This record gives sequence, structure tokens and C-alpha cells, in this order.
Amino acid sequence: TSSGSGSGAKVLKVGSSIDFAPFEFQDEGQKEYQGFDMDLIRAIGKEMGYEVEIQNLGFDGLIPALQGKNIDVIISGMTINDERKQNVLFSDPYYQSGLTMVVRSDEQRIQKFQDLKGKKVAVQIGTTSAEEVKKIEGVEIKELNTPADCFMELKAGGVDAVVNDRPVNDYYITKNGAQGVKALDERLTAEDYGIAIGKDNKELQQKINDALQKLKENGEYDKIFAKWFGE
Ligand code: GLN
Repeated sequence: TSSGSGSGAKVLKVGSSIDFAPFEFQDEGQKEYQGFDMDLIRAIGKEMGYEVEIQNLGFDGLIPALQGKNIDVIISGMTINDERKQNVLFSDPYYQSGLTMVVRSDEQRIQKFQDLKGKKVAVQIGTTSAEEVKKIEGVEIKELNTPADCFMELKAGGVDAVVNDRPVNDYYITKNGAQGVKALDERLTAEDYGIAIGKDNKELQQKINDALQKLKENGEYDKIFAKWFGE
């Protein structure tokens, strides 16, 4: 972690792919990044006595940026998995997620993940969705940059389904009032999100875990959770 100039405040450089509502997004006309992850990392920074500086990076560029020490941590709806653990440390889990799929409202042929055989599917590049869909035999995969690109492709008829994280799919459909598409109930995986930290930075990992624990104990975590997922 670097020292801020002047004030002497310590700065926590955070990378996030700001394309994943309700975890990280930017509303038109609003400067500040919003979402569950954004509130959580700001609260963690405050608890640790750090100033939080957030950079918007493509999802597949986040781990390289961490390894190159351009950022100190990643918070980006990132699933904790063994492959990533070879390159980064993770905090304790902070959100339980998993994958579901979105299809056009008039879709009859696709009810389950196994029905994706022989179909075209859009996923965000570098994600667990991309990895999981590759395991289903006979799927034609389109890897796009953002979930928004995937949903556009679905509506335009370029693909038959989008596989993506359940809370993001649900938010897109219910909160954004997306027209002409529906989310299916079946869950392909159960996944936990974690904050990623540089492989050699066990000290920062400990600080983040301590702060997260504190926020869980003092009710702040629950407040942030209710703000984005209540009701
Ligand atoms: N949870 C998924 C992953 O870690 C997707 C994250 C994202 O697109 N922001 O791969």
C-alpha cells in the first residue's frame, strides 16, 4: 500500500470492473461508483483507516493489475476458486452467489442448463460463467466484455441464452424492468465472492478480514446488505 501525499493518509487502491449491478455500477449523471461492493470496500477502508481509491478496469484485467501492483485489492463480484488462488489471496467470503441463465421471454426450448447443447450462449470474458459453460458439451460460446453486452446480444437474437451471476441477472430483470427476457430458476453452481489481495500480502489480507469481521459484528455489513438486497 502506498502513502497518500500531504495528509499522510494511507491509500487503498481498489480495482473493480464497474459493469455488475448491483455490486458495482455507475448511474448516468453520477460521478461516484455505486453498489454493494463499493459500499463494502469503502466501509472496510474506513475501518482500516485507509483512503479508498477505486479504478475501473475490465474484469479480465483485474488479476493482472493486482499482480503488477497497480492496485492493492480487487472487489468485483469475484468468485473464490482454486485457479485464482494460484495467483492471488482471497479474503473470507462476503457474499453467496452462483450462476443462472437468462433467455428471451418466448423461449420454449431452453428450460435447463443441459438444454444449452447446440445453442449459442453469451458469457462475460474471464468469468466463472465462461469456464462453466465450456464444460457443457456442444455449446457455441460468445465471450463478450460485459454482462450488458451479453444481454444486448440476447435481445438482438445473436445468442439464445446468457449465463451470468444470479444476483446480477435478477437485478437486471426486476430492478431495471428489462423487457423481453426472463431468468430461469435452475442454478448451475454455488459460488462465494471474496476480495482478492496480492499473493505476497498476507498482512493486508489479515487487515481486510479483521475489518470485514468487525463490520459483520457491528451491524454495518447487514445495513449495506439490506440497502442493496433487502425486499
Ligand atoms: N463471479 C463471476 C466471476 O468471478 C463474475 C464476476 C464479474 O463478472 N464481475 O468470474
